[in-house]
Amino acid sequence: MRVVLATGNVGKQRELTELLAPRGFTLLRQTELGVESIEETGTTFEANALLKARHAAQVTGLPALSDDSGLEVDALGGRPGVWSARFAGEGASDADNLALLLRELASVPADRRSARYRCVIAFVQSADDPQPLIAHGAWEGHITLQPQGEGGFGYDPAFVPQGLAQTVAQMDAVAKNAVSHRALALRSLLAQLPGSPR
Ligand code: IMP
Repeated sequence: MRVVLATGNVGKQRELTELLAPRGFTLLRQTELGVESIEETGTTFEANALLKARHAAQVTGLPALSDDSGLEVDALGGRPGVWSARFAGEGASDADNLALLLRELASVPADRRSARYRCVIAFVQSADDPQPLIAHGAWEGHITLQPQGEGGFGYDPAFVPQGLAQTVAQMDAVAKNAVSHRALALRSLLAQLPGSPR
């Protein structure tokens, strides 16, 4: 089945293709099909993931898959959440967002810095699909006092997953992609697809 992937991100396409190709999916990037990205006006990951999937399906006439993700920090009441990419303002860089996060947490002690990455993946057969598939993934951890490591992206230099002693930016990409919030959400989506073993 040909499916449009509602992201222009090449890394995400590669990661998703590896897991979905054996299930008979051919993923096409929306940018290759002339779909412009739309504003993420939702206030939840679910709303934004669905918005993007329905838009891509509407423009292309193909089934569509999208993901939305972000970081939730308990000491900040769940922020930055759906605003993770624009925490320090519209067009902010990863470095700006990370610096703001660490500033906001400056007075929060190490034992109160719990956080999680969340990912929601949405799959629609058509733009007005009444029964979209929605899958969730959460990766628990905490925020360090100082950034460490060069790998990954976004908040990875300050996020240490539960049970590990290193930040995600110090992990290798293969190890991250096997256990991340995106991997968890994708596995949950695969389990919901027709024909999955129960
Ligand atoms: P989006 O899902 O591409 O909209 O990403 C949302 C934002 O959440 C990113 O710009 C990052 O700031 C943050 N984020 C999501 N997933 C990750 C991750 O795996 N590592 C670091 N930051 C992430």
